[in-house]
Amino acid sequence: MKILSVNAGSSSLKFTLIEMPEKVTIASGLFEKIGIEGSFYTIKYNGEKITKEVPMEDHSVAVQKLMDELIELNIISSFDEIEGVGHRLVHGGPDFTKTVILTDEVIEKLTENIDLAPLHNPGSITGMKAFMKVLPNVVQTVVFDTAFHSTMKETEYLYPVPYEWYEKYKVRKYGFHGTSHRFINKTISEYFERNDLKIISCHIGNGGSVTAIDSGKVVDTSMGFTPLAGIMMGTRSGDIDPSILEYVSKKTGESLSELTNDLNKKSGLLGVSGVSSDSRDVETAAEEGNERAILAQEIYARKIANYIAMYNNLLNGADVICLTAGVGENSKKMRKMIIEHIASLGVKIDDARNDCRGEFRLISAENSKIPVYVVPTNEELMIAIDTMELAQKKN
Ligand code: ADP
Repeated sequence: MKILSVNAGSSSLKFTLIEMPEKVTIASGLFEKIGIEGSFYTIKYNGEKITKEVPMEDHSVAVQKLMDELIELNIISSFDEIEGVGHRLVHGGPDFTKTVILTDEVIEKLTENIDLAPLHNPGSITGMKAFMKVLPNVVQTVVFDTAFHSTMKETEYLYPVPYEWYEKYKVRKYGFHGTSHRFINKTISEYFERNDLKIISCHIGNGGSVTAIDSGKVVDTSMGFTPLAGIMMGTRSGDIDPSILEYVSKKTGESLSELTNDLNKKSGLLGVSGVSSDSRDVETAAEEGNERAILAQEIYARKIANYIAMYNNLLNGADVICLTAGVGENSKKMRKMIIEHIASLGVKIDDARNDCRGEFRLISAENSKIPVYVVPTNEELMIAIDTMELAQKKN
């Protein structure tokens, strides 16, 4: 069966068409600048890439174009061949603890909670409505980035702030990247043929989060009420002292939202290095002797290592550490730096094993106290698996 995995933003729509249960990607693509002048799309299929510039005034037009293009490229012969559409949603709020079938009631509930994720959720909801309009008879699901973290206990998800903030305004830790961490949990548990593993899953991409998992359930995760918390990221600060905001605001006259934007977009690797948010550029600059790039890498590795050490304590000793996403899967240097900073846990890298990119691999030494694996993530596939399962249950 063919399943579409969809990730819609306010002006974009990313898709992957996957043949299930074979898990084969048939086509993928991106629609950009929807509703803005100069809208275009790119579709990758059969090793080829097509790009077309066409006006798309809203997401429904983009979805219609996508479906027409799938027919024109002979990828499908009719819309009926699409047997499921899975939508990624960044924030499910406190009410959604697993993937659900998309209905009008679900849309209503999501709309009620829209101010929990004002930057991300509106675009995704627009995408869902567009697919419901163009493919009214196809099973559609919503896969939440927050859902996997819903097993956290109050001791982990409550902030030590006035309790009314939680009661009245739903201020608590939600955690993100849940679909990726769930995929890592599934992959490594299947590999070890165990469902009782204590895992520290490190998703280190442009965004980044570390998650402690015990027997398939999240115990704690580094992102918080929003994806700004936790480890240092490409452009996000991660954890900082919140008083800095008022202090800097008095100095610069910037508003709270301007400063929050600085913490989201101008901090992290970019902020410290002054070079780039892309870890490859920072790596190159560091190799050329750029002092701030060297410092940025050092802080980056330490922040991640500190979370791993903290979660090792929380789990009372992890069975395995997994590294994933752009940096985790590809950067030998950063992996080595992170692992060197958790030497106190008895973790040791094997340089020859670490000489790899984008593949499932053990990279720790034989005598490492905790094994470390690179596990490539695949959020689109996780979405397709959930959607296939729900579609099969429904039919
Ligand atoms: P996101 O999905 O959060 O946008 P990704 O998981 O794609 O991000 O990760 C992007 C990051 O991965 C970038 O910082 C990029 O530099 C880094 N990355 C990708 N390939 C490499 C590589 N070969 N070496 C070092 N870093 C890499």
